Amino acid sequence: NSKQQGRNTYSFFTEKMSQDLTRRLLLEEHLRHALRLGELEVYYQPQFNIETNELIGAEALLRWHNSALGSVSPEEFIPLAENNGEIVEIGKFVLKTAIEQATEWFNKLDKPFKIAVNLSPRQFKDRNLISDIKRYIAQVDMPASLLELEITEGVLLSGEDSVRKALKNLHQLGLIIAMDDFGTGYSSLNYLRQYPFDILKIDQSFISDLSNKAEASELVNSIITMSHSLGLKVIAEGIETLSQLKILEHYRCDIGQGFLLGKPMPSKDFEHWVGLTDIK
Ligand code: C2E
Ligand code: MG
Ligand code: MG
Ligand code: MG
Repeated sequence: NSKQQGRNTYSFFTEKMSQDLTRRLLLEEHLRHALRLGELEVYYQPQFNIETNELIGAEALLRWHNSALGSVSPEEFIPLAENNGEIVEIGKFVLKTAIEQATEWFNKLDKPFKIAVNLSPRQFKDRNLISDIKRYIAQVDMPASLLELEITEGVLLSGEDSVRKALKNLHQLGLIIAMDDFGTGYSSLNYLRQYPFDILKIDQSFISDLSNKAEASELVNSIITMSHSLGLKVIAEGIETLSQLKILEHYRCDIGQGFLLGKPMPSKDFEHWVGLTDIK
């Protein structure tokens, strides 16, 4: 009967909730020591100029390997690290590591190599953010224009003046500012006018629809045209098939990123893949 069903539903939910909470507490406990224990690693996913097929840089993507938990997705642990503020220290580690690594590759490749780093909303509350970034790039003598900061709408939602000032400041230093996951939020178009963006990254949900839905193609086409008229470059993320790439090329999308072109890789694998060292 319905009363029993109701009770079952209720107990089902509490069990699920208690499992989620247990998992969360377990992750938080391990995450607290992850940085110190060297469990965090930066992976690199290549980005290409779609017109010339040239490698132009990479996005730094964090990975967490823990002996008890296995590999935990950043989709799962980044929100936890944001919640308890650990993302500030973790974020510094990503910035420093990625900047040093990219500079090494830049020097070896002997041509510009851009590195894109994701920044969380919480990192903008850290008043040392800008001075830290300045110091990291100065330490390795990296041109500011080779560092790209990817932020999502979440960073702008607060509408805080400090965020606006920080972005303006970073932009004036010559860093590149990219809007990540474009199209998934609410008022992204408005943000494009209000903040100093150089790059727009079309969310992969639009790209995966590209080859099978005509409206999706029209939408992507419009986003690219609009971005170009605003003076922004466009990156398509999540390119998995050749037909998606062809469509994007046809629409004059500037930069491509996705499993078709290269998965996120540990730095050693990335070097082999680029041909900076011999594959043994
Ligand atoms: P994101 O910044 O939008 O990164 C793109 C995500 O798409 C990455 O997932 C990447 O591995 C995945 N991806 C790339 N190409 C393809 C493809 O062709 N197909 C599919 N299905 N996926 C593709 P990942 O590495 O799991 O990261 C997830 C999210 O976690 C990132 O989304 C970003 O929001 C966050 N994240 C990762 N590393 C960091 C970090 O160092 N700091 C911060 N604050 N956030 C990070
Ligand atoms: Mg990103
Ligand atoms: Mg994205
Ligand atoms: Mg994302």
